[in-house]
Amino acid sequence: MSESAGDRKTDRKIDVVIIGAGFSGLYALYRFREAGYSVHCFEGGGGVGGTWYWNRYPGAGSDIESLEYSYSFSEELQQEWKWSKRYSGQPEIERYMIHVADRFDLNRDISLNTTIGDLNWDESGDVWRMTASSGERIEARYCVMCTGILSAPKHIDIPGFDSFAGDVLHTSKWPAEEPDLNGKRVGIIGTGSSAVQSIPILAERAGQLTVFQRTPNYSIPLQNGPLDAAYESHVKSDYQGWRDKQRKSFGGYVSVNFRAASPPESTTMEVSDEERRMEFETRWASGGLAFYTSFKDLLFSQQANDSLADFVREKIRAKLVSREIADALIPDNYPILTKRLCADTGYYETFNRKNVELVNLREAPIERITDKGVKIGDKVYELDVLVFATGFDAITGQLVRMSIKGVDGVQLKDVWQDGPHTIAGLMTHGFPNMFFINGPQSCTGFFNPVLNAEYQCDWLADMLERMQTDGHVRVEAEQRAQEDWVEHVRSVAEPTLFWNSENWFIGANIKGKARVMQLYLGGFPAYCQYVSEVRESDYRGFAFGDQVTVNDKADALTGS
Ligand code: NAP
Repeated sequence: MSESAGDRKTDRKIDVVIIGAGFSGLYALYRFREAGYSVHCFEGGGGVGGTWYWNRYPGAGSDIESLEYSYSFSEELQQEWKWSKRYSGQPEIERYMIHVADRFDLNRDISLNTTIGDLNWDESGDVWRMTASSGERIEARYCVMCTGILSAPKHIDIPGFDSFAGDVLHTSKWPAEEPDLNGKRVGIIGTGSSAVQSIPILAERAGQLTVFQRTPNYSIPLQNGPLDAAYESHVKSDYQGWRDKQRKSFGGYVSVNFRAASPPESTTMEVSDEERRMEFETRWASGGLAFYTSFKDLLFSQQANDSLADFVREKIRAKLVSREIADALIPDNYPILTKRLCADTGYYETFNRKNVELVNLREAPIERITDKGVKIGDKVYELDVLVFATGFDAITGQLVRMSIKGVDGVQLKDVWQDGPHTIAGLMTHGFPNMFFINGPQSCTGFFNPVLNAEYQCDWLADMLERMQTDGHVRVEAEQRAQEDWVEHVRSVAEPTLFWNSENWFIGANIKGKARVMQLYLGGFPAYCQYVSEVRESDYRGFAFGDQVTVNDKADALTGS
């Protein structure tokens, strides 16, 4: 006889379980609790913050401006909170998230230091069942995955990586107590955004810093500084109006345009050389991600892309004293913007310091890591501290590392072997009542994740309300509608230049991972239009299941 839902031992029975207490998880908790559901959030970290809890390496910070990289749901919150800098560092963002959790009394429904490793769909009761690392058994009607797209550190694939006898640090799991690097020989592997942010500070602290670089990245000066009071007042005088502008933009940030210039209407090569140069100079001076909102064809036309890459290469070269180091640091074999652009404060200038050495792994790769340091050919670079800034199994990584069993015990990791399959990044067929916020095939990664989380949670709350009204207890993505979305995501990405670099958007930084665009590139306005139409068409593409009592189900299963 089948076990019925009623026979199971459950310590906590709730409407909505939320996994992860980063920006998405905190808002989901607030939103679904406000909607009247019993909600609980499980978080593996020792505090709230998600990315901003774990990535506390020196120099960590956001490259979306503070006034925009923050919640919009509470006018009081956005008026009250004072950011100190144009772009916030990790400590300030973490303080903000702790404040949000306190201000909205979220902590009473968050279990910290608690992971959920496996989730199982129980068809007999239309519920998700899981056991937390604390041993607690949970039953939830809905499961909201807020696990982040850059939260599963890439497994280190260098031979002997665990044999190093000195201190080992990872940028994505930096210790809360700042390690003492004073006078030490520090090595860092990787030159992505995390390394680009941390290297200038590590160089100041260490006796000697050795940077092991395989692929150089393009980095633009962040142009950070104190938040201008007049500008802050301007934004706060009509914050909701400002948020609307953010939502109507492609990336969810508009300050760079406010400070620089509006995105040009023309394509790159349509304008004169002088006009193009002026546009690039303005965006270089504005800093950070400003180039993503420059000419529309930069990610489509190789010629357009080359013109920007040449401009940035020239700027980088001008910062470096040594020609040889400049040659090694300047990217020359992939389109700019296709690996996520880095934003830095003094990155290139750091390589002019006497205590910094650049090791170009394109000339000779790392052979192995030994107890003493990093071995390349006959030479061992002896170190006291080794830092891995080697990136993430991005977007799907955290989800497929969990055991998530849907209908008939099918595992999510198997269903997503050839890349994610979702409807609008919200649900996947075969996994009823499970929702993804800032997940695969949504706009996140190319759109401000804080606003995206608010939008997706609000949309889901509407759908759950409608289900409640109609007496439904189950919702599932229809396969056909889902595959239409998968095809749409693919076709939007196809004509871009993203296929010409080894970037994490297409899974190319992970050996054996399917090479598919894992995010939606059509832009937030187009995304909103799509899901609004879905809502207005009575949730086309979503199949609802009616209220069936647990006893009815058990009877049906046992044939009695
Ligand atoms: P990443 O961009 O993937 O960079 C990883 C680096 O490690 C690359 O230079 C990579 O070289 C290198 N690497 C990996 N395995 C290696 C190996 N076996 N041997 C030698 N080198 C190896 O990772 P990340 O720097 O952590 O950044 C990931 C993303 O997080 C960013 O793109 C960004 O979206 C986000 N982020 C944002 C900020 C911000 O400014 N707000 C800051 C940090 C991170 P290859 O390229 O040759 O593989």
